[in-house]
Amino acid sequence: MQIVPRAATRRRIHSNLWGLAVSLLVLALSVWMVIVPAGIASAQTPKDDHAASEPKIHIIPTLGTNVGVIEGENALIIIDPGFPEENASEFMRKLRELSAKPVAYVFNTHAHYDHSEGNGLFAREGAKVIGHSNLKYSSAHVDWTFSSRLTFKEDGLTLEAFYIPSHSYSDILIHIPEANTLFLGDSFTTNSHPTFYAGGIAKQNEVIDLALSLADDDTKIVPGHGVVSTRQDLIAYRDKTNALYDHVITLIDQGWSERRIHADEEYQSRMLAFNGENRSEFLDSTAVRRFAMRVANSEALPSVDLDEQQLELITGIYRQTDGATLEVVVERGAVFLRRTGDFIAELLPLGGEAFRMRAMADVEVSFVRAGAHEPPTALLFRNGEDAPVEAVRSGTP
Ligand SMILES: [Zn+2]
Repeated sequence: MQIVPRAATRRRIHSNLWGLAVSLLVLALSVWMVIVPAGIASAQTPKDDHAASEPKIHIIPTLGTNVGVIEGENALIIIDPGFPEENASEFMRKLRELSAKPVAYVFNTHAHYDHSEGNGLFAREGAKVIGHSNLKYSSAHVDWTFSSRLTFKEDGLTLEAFYIPSHSYSDILIHIPEANTLFLGDSFTTNSHPTFYAGGIAKQNEVIDLALSLADDDTKIVPGHGVVSTRQDLIAYRDKTNALYDHVITLIDQGWSERRIHADEEYQSRMLAFNGENRSEFLDSTAVRRFAMRVANSEALPSVDLDEQQLELITGIYRQTDGATLEVVVERGAVFLRRTGDFIAELLPLGGEAFRMRAMADVEVSFVRAGAHEPPTALLFRNGEDAPVEAVRSGTP
């Protein structure tokens, strides 16, 4: 079956000055949380003395992930220690060549294991792990979370973090003003194509536009994977991302299958523009093969609007026969399915009682109920050809 969306259903925010002004206004109004921990000796830096204490930042690429090391006056902050225990000694050796200071804090740009697998290692040594509250719905260890925006001041350092879910449901952009450095996590990579399957092209453009508004020509822009880049590099990335997206959406609108899109010459050349390391298998990688499928199953689905009452009815806790629980919650009009310590994903309405798990062609969730105005008695989770898993409604979150 071809997916033929109604053109008007697509939410698109082209990057432009108006969009930027709106997003900055939204940021200014959103929850703004400031943490000033008392853990380690606080630095008495005068306000006008920034230049004298510009923090040192190092990048230690480990298993392909850019791991950031920020040197405060007394301690270190690590960003994205995405390596397992067996690779820790290699990382620690490189770290100790740079500094003997203890690691006091760890930040994750998002929950994916290749950015968070080493959290526990540092937590056991006394570091506090900080990230977006959706890290709770992953296997990542986390101690402190925030929901929208965080200003973190400690040890002569300032880290500003902004929640913009583009690549994943826990993405944060980290800005370190005194070091003129930005960490974009996997909202920006220099050796792979864009993967904005959680927030779509609108959130992809929002995070890039925010980064560009914070950056000048000297800003160091750290991608989740690949080489440290400049503002100009990020502008080029945004432009080729939008060109690729526009081309794919046009082909989906024309009813092209994913296989046909993958064989299209223009699609292939636009994709190859992201092959920053000239990998020979790039075009045939699983990731590139499923890009069109994921766009089709996130932003090109037929639009179905659910009213507030409908959304409220399906909200709840659902219990599987093995005791595991799933939560259905509604945030800003969007429906999410989540399990603590495991996963979170948006559910997109397909009509009737059926929902598609965003960007996942094979996963459908449906609700069992007596009538459209009754609360569901259960939900059914179906993954491809597997038998559906039933979870019985057992209350509200
Ligand atoms: Zn990722």
